[in-house]
Amino acid sequence: MDMGFSDTDKTFQRDVQAFLAQQLTPYLREAMARTPTVFVEQDIALGWQALLQERGWAGYLWPESAGGPGWTPVQRYIFERECAIAGAPGLVGLGLKLAGPVIYTYGTAAQKEHFLPRILSGEHYWCQGYSEAGAGSDLASLTTRAELRGDHYVVNGSKMWTTHAHFANWMFCLARTQEMDRPQQGISFLLIDMDQPAVEVRPVLTLAGDHEVNAVFLDDAHVPVENRVGAEGQGWEIAKFLLENERGGSCFAPILLAQLRRLRELAQGRPDGLGGTLLDQPSFVQKLCALEVQALALEAFELRLLSQLDKGIRPGGKTSIVKLVVADIRQKLDLLKVDAHAHHGLALETHRPLYGRDAGDPVGSIEAELAMPMYLNSRARSIFGGSTEIQRGIIAKQLLNL
Ligand SMILES: Cc1cc2nc3c(=O)[nH]c(=O)nc-3n(C[C@H](O)[C@H](O)[C@H](O)COP(=O)(O)OP(=O)(O)OC[C@H]3O[C@@H](n4cnc5c(N)ncnc54)[C@H](O)[C@@H]3O)c2cc1C
Repeated sequence: MDMGFSDTDKTFQRDVQAFLAQQLTPYLREAMARTPTVFVEQDIALGWQALLQERGWAGYLWPESAGGPGWTPVQRYIFERECAIAGAPGLVGLGLKLAGPVIYTYGTAAQKEHFLPRILSGEHYWCQGYSEAGAGSDLASLTTRAELRGDHYVVNGSKMWTTHAHFANWMFCLARTQEMDRPQQGISFLLIDMDQPAVEVRPVLTLAGDHEVNAVFLDDAHVPVENRVGAEGQGWEIAKFLLENERGGSCFAPILLAQLRRLRELAQGRPDGLGGTLLDQPSFVQKLCALEVQALALEAFELRLLSQLDKGIRPGGKTSIVKLVVADIRQKLDLLKVDAHAHHGLALETHRPLYGRDAGDPVGSIEAELAMPMYLNSRARSIFGGSTEIQRGIIAKQLLNL
């Protein structure tokens, strides 16, 4: 696709390419290539974040006033695209993409001053305390309670599926501060210091055997009033703002296209047993081409959203389309990778992480070893961040007015 970048954007693109060529170490690149989970492990994420922050780029989605580089949407897209092509680790978005924008949009001056630099430096590592055992799709039915006692809240309840809570020292959390007629009312947005005995994190192992998510128990957790973001009862509005950033906010097509390109290269080198390669197999190539077309269409859609953002138009329910399509492409892509690796693709290496000094020799190849863990991991893509059915409901209501 001809991106039609301006000369300034092309200069910027060369800057990013030069930065990646210089700073992206083979270790970081390999660790990313050997990560089957949504987020890379904390050490890799923070290592990469530190290098970016030295250049002032860690908060690349943030405005200058908040400590980011203040890039245009097109620059952000170029950055994500070049990172995907170079195989850079993904940044863990819980602080940079979710907590940060909430704080610089709704926070007090003191909250901005305290939290934003610590998110950028990686000193604060965040997790998201939204879902509960009985409140996922129906998030407003959450029962975690925060009772105001003088200058602080006392929080009781539990959170479920909390990604990277075992690494986090801070959690942004939705808690009920008041009983109201509508369940969406009376919810507040609290920032909880995880480093207190009242917070317990228990691992929940996923289908692939990864420790990525947790259950978090809050038993009289102490939260100073100054760690509430927004007014008491404003939590639902803030929660929705954050979810919009979670489902959209940055572009997914670049990484999908980069992975499809790698799959095509792999297929080109794999004999099909009939004197050709996998690319000569119509059943394989048809699926690959369909995914490539879908990813290019997603790219065009994301670029259109970016140009609207440039004009100050927020994407709203359109991020649900992005969420739906990304989950669909990822799941089909990961299944096709398993197919491409044949019997080697069926191996499930339970040792984690797959990179670093302790990693054993891969069975077949690194890509083959990753195929099954990635396939199993990506099953969750149609659940987290709001399930596929919920996204369809939002599209029907908000975009199609059904
Ligand atoms: C790997 C992973 C990581 C996650 N990380 C986090 C995290 O860090 N922080 C966090 O807060 N949460 C996290 N979640 C939770 C995630 O947001 C919820 O799992 C999700 O919102 C679905 O909620 P639920 O699991 O309670 O399922 P339910 O809401 O019980 O849904 C069960 C099924 O019913 C369907 N359904 C429910 N309501 C409707 C409806 N109205 N119309 C049609 N169908 C419906 C759903 O689509 C789903 O198929 C994570 C989940 C996973 C799997």
